[in-house]
Amino acid sequence: RRRWRRVLGVLRELEDACETPVGRLRQVVDAMAVEMHAGLASEGGSKLKMLLTFVDTLPNGNEKGIYYALDLGGTNFRVLQVQLEGRRSSIFPPEVEQQPIPQHLMTSTREDLFDFIAASLKEFVERKEVSFGYSPEKRRELGFTVSFPVKQTSVSSGILIRWTKGFAIHDMVGKDIAESLQLALARNGLNMRVVALVNDTVGTLALGHYHDPDTVAAVIIGTGTNACYVERTDAIIKCQGLVTTSGLMVVNMEWGSFWSSHLPRTSYDIDLDAESPNPNEQGFEKMISGMYLGEIVRRVILRMSQESDIFGASLSNLSIPFILRTPLMAAMHEDNSPDLREVDEKWREMLEVPEVPKKARKVIVKVCDIVTRRAARLAAAGIVGILKKIGRDGGSITGGRSRGDARMRRSVVAIEGGLYTSYTMFREYLLEALREILGEDDARHVILKVTEDGSGLGAALLAAASHSSTP
Ligand code: ADP
Repeated sequence: RRRWRRVLGVLRELEDACETPVGRLRQVVDAMAVEMHAGLASEGGSKLKMLLTFVDTLPNGNEKGIYYALDLGGTNFRVLQVQLEGRRSSIFPPEVEQQPIPQHLMTSTREDLFDFIAASLKEFVERKEVSFGYSPEKRRELGFTVSFPVKQTSVSSGILIRWTKGFAIHDMVGKDIAESLQLALARNGLNMRVVALVNDTVGTLALGHYHDPDTVAAVIIGTGTNACYVERTDAIIKCQGLVTTSGLMVVNMEWGSFWSSHLPRTSYDIDLDAESPNPNEQGFEKMISGMYLGEIVRRVILRMSQESDIFGASLSNLSIPFILRTPLMAAMHEDNSPDLREVDEKWREMLEVPEVPKKARKVIVKVCDIVTRRAARLAAAGIVGILKKIGRDGGSITGGRSRGDARMRRSVVAIEGGLYTSYTMFREYLLEALREILGEDDARHVILKVTEDGSGLGAALLAAASHSSTP
């Protein structure tokens, strides 16, 4: 009783439900642009929070001096020192150190967490500055990257809206996160000022812009996903009277929470969401980011294994949520070996089952392909949505107004994250969809540029940029 037909039925159903023809992608593009408008029009006007960052000047390559950055965003935090020489091309290789956050601190108090971080930072500074004479009196500037949703109140302060990714420090929510760090720095005797509080995507944008002034947006697709872009202040209607020297401000979209009825959703997505700790939130993220892709695949194959025994006799491990991590999924998807030997190996290792028949291996690869292709194409539509919002999608006529020149403007989108950089099929599907949506001609003017470590380096650059613009 192998019941192939049932398996193929589930597969076909999945394929249909995940379909993303270019027409549907264009609907997603439009929905993204519409939601961006709505999120800018009023507080709570959209699932997209469209958070103000107060960043109105991006680094341009002329910055000089030594700056620090602290990057807090996941299981690790990183500290970084960079020496800027004023010529764009010559960022000295930054000194970076990474350290895991002890599990118990992720759910402790804000003092405990920030004292731990401040102490590590101090030790780092002492070590790095010893060569040119560490002096406790010296004042230092720090860019602080936080990849949790923060409602900024200025370029260097902001309230933590909520924790994600396993953090749960209740006395921090609703408080100023930069101030919490600043107080801990003082308690630990480190003379350092938090001059920029930065969302990780904004760091990516800053680094992109440092190297290429045509950079208008940044996207991160890793464990989670988010995007930011440069908006005109007069388009930020919810904040009347916002004035900046440049007339521009970077907006942090928090696009992981984007939602539209045009997104092709399956029963697996619905169940995943319902069983998640944050149902009805981060809908877009749950379809496209690394935290979830493997899990969607697991759910599909679990369903298949309930219909048939083709995947091996004992599949009890397959009912463990999140057992199938996205990098492993990618490895199976991209298996080029004859007979898909790697799929078999990975599968057996993960689930402790005997050999997987070749036909079943093919099904596994196909499921990975469907899930990743949908994710990548939706991410592409999201990116074009941003470009459309700022009139850089090459659309010749919008609202009866011809954009003429905008048609040929070169637009760079800085991009980062393990899913894009390490998962080749994901990247290729994304780029292919961009070309489909924009058309070959216009797509040539949209450049996705991988930045590296923008969340850290970009924060240091923003610290430098904000420092050089204050007297
Ligand atoms: P962050 O956890 O801060 O988002 P990254 O941007 O490096 O860090 O993204 C890491 C994520 O990228 C992982 O959680 C995983 O989902 C995904 N990823 C990393 N490597 C691969 C890979 N080889 N194939 C597919 N996905 C990967």
